[in-house]
Amino acid sequence: MQRRKFLQYAGISAFTGAGLASCKGDEKADSNSHQAKTEAFKTLQWKMVTTWPKNFPGLGTGAEFLAKQINEMSNGRIHVTVYGAGELVPAFEIFDAVSNGSAQMGHGSAYYWKGKNPALQFFSTTPFGMTAMEMNAWLYHGGGMELWQEAYKQFGLVPAAAGNTNVQMAGWFNKEINTLEDLKGLKMRIPGLGGEVLKRAGGTPVNLPGGELFTSLQSGAIDATEWVGPYNDLAFGFHKIAKYYYYPGWHEPGTTLECFINQKAFEELPADLQAIVITACRVANQDMALEYIARNNDALDTLINEHNVDVRKLPDDVIKKLATLSKEVTAELGFTDPLARKIYDSYSDFFNKSRAWLDISERAYLNLRTG
Ligand code: CA
Repeated sequence: MQRRKFLQYAGISAFTGAGLASCKGDEKADSNSHQAKTEAFKTLQWKMVTTWPKNFPGLGTGAEFLAKQINEMSNGRIHVTVYGAGELVPAFEIFDAVSNGSAQMGHGSAYYWKGKNPALQFFSTTPFGMTAMEMNAWLYHGGGMELWQEAYKQFGLVPAAAGNTNVQMAGWFNKEINTLEDLKGLKMRIPGLGGEVLKRAGGTPVNLPGGELFTSLQSGAIDATEWVGPYNDLAFGFHKIAKYYYYPGWHEPGTTLECFINQKAFEELPADLQAIVITACRVANQDMALEYIARNNDALDTLINEHNVDVRKLPDDVIKKLATLSKEVTAELGFTDPLARKIYDSYSDFFNKSRAWLDISERAYLNLRTG
């Protein structure tokens, strides 16, 4: 059906509608011309399935932003409809849904697909790994994207970075963390590689879906939970039930969100629409990262000044231990298979160089700026 629509569209070579001449503000003429255009072009109807609840702040709205960019930049030639988790397929089935073509696009994060290949987590985030800026530099200018494409090609998918949370928070705790001993037996919701690190430090990582975090922390079933950062955490209301808000989010220092596209659907697009889809992802990638900074700024202010939240830094020796364990866990990930090794080598090579440069640029400047 999509293919037939596409061929119909492809048969129409040019649009030179009078609507182009309509002036701004003439909404009626504009909407008529828009209708004429979409009819002439036999709009491609694309489905974007996501791992987020519909319009979930930052992440779900980021997926909507991306769809809007594609719809507008393509002048209606592609119309992307966003589906929240569970609307078409459950959150963790979107990868397969796009891979098998039942949807054309997906919006999630690569670490959700570690069951396909653990090394995919490098395209999301790693504990004590790269920041959003470093991740994007690696992906766009350091060979990362080519490796991501290689990794997703075997699933019939084209990947693109499509958002970033930036550095997250370490989480909400009902137990003080003063020494390494305090991590022993700590029951914390912390998924993925961060959870493995906590386990090696003596803690008990628990993986719970977002919807169960509040009650689990409130009832004492868990001692702590990580989520995202002030913007999302304030909305969840964790400040009402947790004593301490620890930073920094060592386990998710720059989580990349992704858009993946069914490869066949992508290859059937004419070159200009392919460019629009990829460019829209690039725009959405940056926009989400910047939106998170702006919203986190305000939310942190509210948490501290309106809700008197006790914001604390994790102690240095705890950070040091977690960093050592993170290095181990990340290196092990790099030895799972030949592709993992290739990704790990590229990631760590870029990271080492980036660290040297950022130490005397961003870090040096930020250190100067404090106080
Ligand atoms: Ca998180």
